Amino acid sequence: MPLHQALPPLLASGQARGLEASGRWLDPATTHALPPRPAAFLDRDGVLIVDDHYPHDPAKVQWIPGAWQAVRRLNEAGYFVFVVTNQAGVGRGYYTEATVRHLHRWMAAEMAQAGAHIDAFEYCPHHPEADVAAYRRSCHRRKPGPGMILDLMAHWPVERAGSFMIGDRSTDVAAAAAAGLPGHLFPSDDLDRMTTIILSASNFSGV
Ligand SMILES: [Mg+2]
Repeated sequence: MPLHQALPPLLASGQARGLEASGRWLDPATTHALPPRPAAFLDRDGVLIVDDHYPHDPAKVQWIPGAWQAVRRLNEAGYFVFVVTNQAGVGRGYYTEATVRHLHRWMAAEMAQAGAHIDAFEYCPHHPEADVAAYRRSCHRRKPGPGMILDLMAHWPVERAGSFMIGDRSTDVAAAAAAGLPGHLFPSDDLDRMTTIILSASNFSGV
């Protein structure tokens, strides 16, 4: 059912609610009709949330200082915001893909409360030495491979100029380089401060 027909009755019955926010918001079905924009590719653990050894339980998640503000700042500057995260914990059998997706839905909901929006989450559950056989492989999507970034650039109208990656490990920077993008190493202190510096050095004029 088209959104314009589906939403009004849900809103009227209280089964859906809205949030006013600035910046551009997308219906994924129409993304290719939109003009290209640069993208911020963000690692998850150590960039948005504290990397306390395979985080996966929302009840234990600690946000990195400035994470929500940084994402909102990127939204308002007209950037796509994508999360690209290695989740070898799946391959190691620590938790399942459903757990990863649940955490991402929780993160998106938390961010929405602050008016911040992530356009897409990409994760790679594989590892060449995974304990779970189904996940044991060398995967081009696992960073330092560029696969997750390239897949996002193939499915969204991403403009290369101005796009960048932020990660807390050298493998993040290497993945960005392999995708032909600049990568910034983040010391896990204040993400909004770092994002502000990167944006101030960018030529992208925003929306
Ligand atoms: Mg990390």
